[in-house]
Formats: sequence, C-alpha cells, structure tokens
Amino acid sequence: MNMEFKRKLTIPMETKEMYPLTGSMADIVEKKIAELKAIFSGKSDKKVMIIGPCSADNEDSVIDYISRLIPVQEQVKDKLLIVPRIYTNKARTTGDGYKGLVHQPDPNSSPDLFKGIIATRELHMRAVKETGFACADEMLYPENFKYIDDLLAYVAVGARSVEDQQHRLTASAIECPVGMKNPTSGDLAVMMNAILAAQHQHDFIYRGWEGHSFGNPYAHAILRGYVNRQGVTHPNYHYETLIYLVQLYDKWNLKNPAVVIDCNHANSGKNPFEQPRILKDVLLSCNYSSDLKKMVKGFMVESYIEDGNQPVGGGVYGKSITDACLGWEKSERLIYETADML
Ligand code: PEP
Ligand code: MN
Repeated sequence: MNMEFKRKLTIPMETKEMYPLTGSMADIVEKKIAELKAIFSGKSDKKVMIIGPCSADNEDSVIDYISRLIPVQEQVKDKLLIVPRIYTNKARTTGDGYKGLVHQPDPNSSPDLFKGIIATRELHMRAVKETGFACADEMLYPENFKYIDDLLAYVAVGARSVEDQQHRLTASAIECPVGMKNPTSGDLAVMMNAILAAQHQHDFIYRGWEGHSFGNPYAHAILRGYVNRQGVTHPNYHYETLIYLVQLYDKWNLKNPAVVIDCNHANSGKNPFEQPRILKDVLLSCNYSSDLKKMVKGFMVESYIEDGNQPVGGGVYGKSITDACLGWEKSERLIYETADML
C-alpha cells in the first residue's frame, strides 16, 4: 500500500480501560436510550430534539453549549427529549478540510488520531458526567464506533455513507436508535434499504472479528433535503414527501416507522436561520395527518453559541467552523416554541 503506518493505536477495550465509565454515567446513558426507544416505538408521545453544533471543534465551547441546554430541558421535559449533538467526525465532500475532532483535536494543528480518539471519548464522557445528557454522534467510520459506543444515546449515518454496506451492517449491531439519512441525491429507496439492512441480523467482519449482529429495530429515516443532477438544492420536509414516506413505510414492512427531520443541510439550503420555519412547517403538517403525527419523531437542528460560521482558525468562541448554525438565543427560543406547539 502507498501509505506510511505511523503507529499502532490502542484498541477500544484498552481505551475504555484507560477512560472508564462510572456506574452512574452508564445509568444515564441507559436511561436516555430507554427514553428514546419509547419515543421511536410510539410508547411515548414526546418528540426528540437532536440539537448542537455541526462539528464539536472545541471541548470548552461544546460543554458550555450543552450546559445551557440543562435548564431548557427541565422546562420542556414533558414534551421534548433533548439529545445534544457532539459530532466528532466530519464527512467532507472532497475529503479535504477539517475532518473533525478525531482527526484534529486541535483544528489549528496537524492531524493526531491517537490524541483525537482520546479527545473524542473524553468529550462524550464530560458531557454525560457534567451535564447529564447522553449525546448523538455520526458514525462516519464504523471501525471507530466502538471507542464511544458505551456513551451515545443516538447515532446518525450520514448522507454520504448511507449506501455503504459496512455502515449498514454495523448499524444493525448498535443498541441505541440509529437514523439513516437520505443520500445527497435524495433517492429515498437508498434510505429505506439502509433501514431494512440495519433492522436485520447479519454475519460480518468487524475490527478483526467474525461477528453476528442482532438487528436494530429502532433504525429509522432522517430527511435532510437533497441536491439534484443540476446541482440545485431541494428540500424534502414538505407535507407531500412526508405522506410519501408514510406510504413507503407501509410497503416496506419495517419495524417502528419513524422519521427525524434534519432542518439544516439541503433542507435549509444551508441557511441556518430557516431552521425554525422548517421545524414549525413540519409540526403544522403533522396537524393535517394523524399518520404524520405518529411517524415524525423529532428534529435535528444545527445550533451553537454564535450565529453562522467562520473559517478554521477564525477564533470566535462558540462559532461553527463547518456548517453555519443557529446561535444560542434563537435556538433556546426555538426549543420553547416547539414545546408550546406540541
Ligand atoms: C451533519 O449532520 O452535519 C451532516 C454532515 O449531515 P449530512 O450527512 O446530512 O450531510
Ligand atoms: Mn452539518
């Protein structure tokens, strides 16, 4: 191979021995997963709000952000379950640019994957320990997932990964709910195939092991909008698409039909300030159809301390260095307004 093997990394088991979960941290994660499963199976009528920065670029500002969610969660606890986003791996369309905490624990320094794995585990641990939230992350690299599998309440498979076999098979082995995004092309059959694959049992190779997965009945859809063949962005959160998804679920015979609406990305045309309007539009659609009310389980919102985004090295505390986000005040207002509409 045309590659320098720089150093052998610790395996997940060793990393977990070095950075172990306490019993009370494990209890928090277990409880949050149980609450999410109740929502995704329809036992609870609450909605889920997966909210936070596009990328977890800075430990202090991410913990600061998540800490601000604590009193908000308390206020809306009868209506909404908040799951903060701690996205430690970033998919890049061309492979260039900031690839997330796992690659660059310091976005302004060279890649250091050994430190990155530890920084990722430490950040998710701090969130659980200091804020009482168990968080969401994207599974961009299936083989890295086991470094943090005991800390997450929610996992997303991204638009660029959802057609990949190893992602689908690994999702079938995950305990918590996994959201399968529609691909960037918008082909909903690709997303449905991914959900089906994740709900089934499989035999496959994972981290040097021959393994058997038991299937994830909580694998579900995430609609994130798409880009057509002319490169034009199209939303897919409108009433018609949601009704079409209800019909697809009827045909595909899947467990726990569910969808999370990603309010940013191609749904907002990457304009983060559209997110409140999109979320409210979906809630209004739900009022016209009891099928939609049942299927729409929640929302994904890209939000941080400051509005917008900045280049890597921009230096503004709490401002995204990847996709533009909704700032704190607007985000807090949106959570309260969402709870009021439910
Ligand atoms: C994200 O959630 O930040 C993201 C990269 O999403 P997608 O895979 O939909 O582009
Ligand atoms: Mn993003």
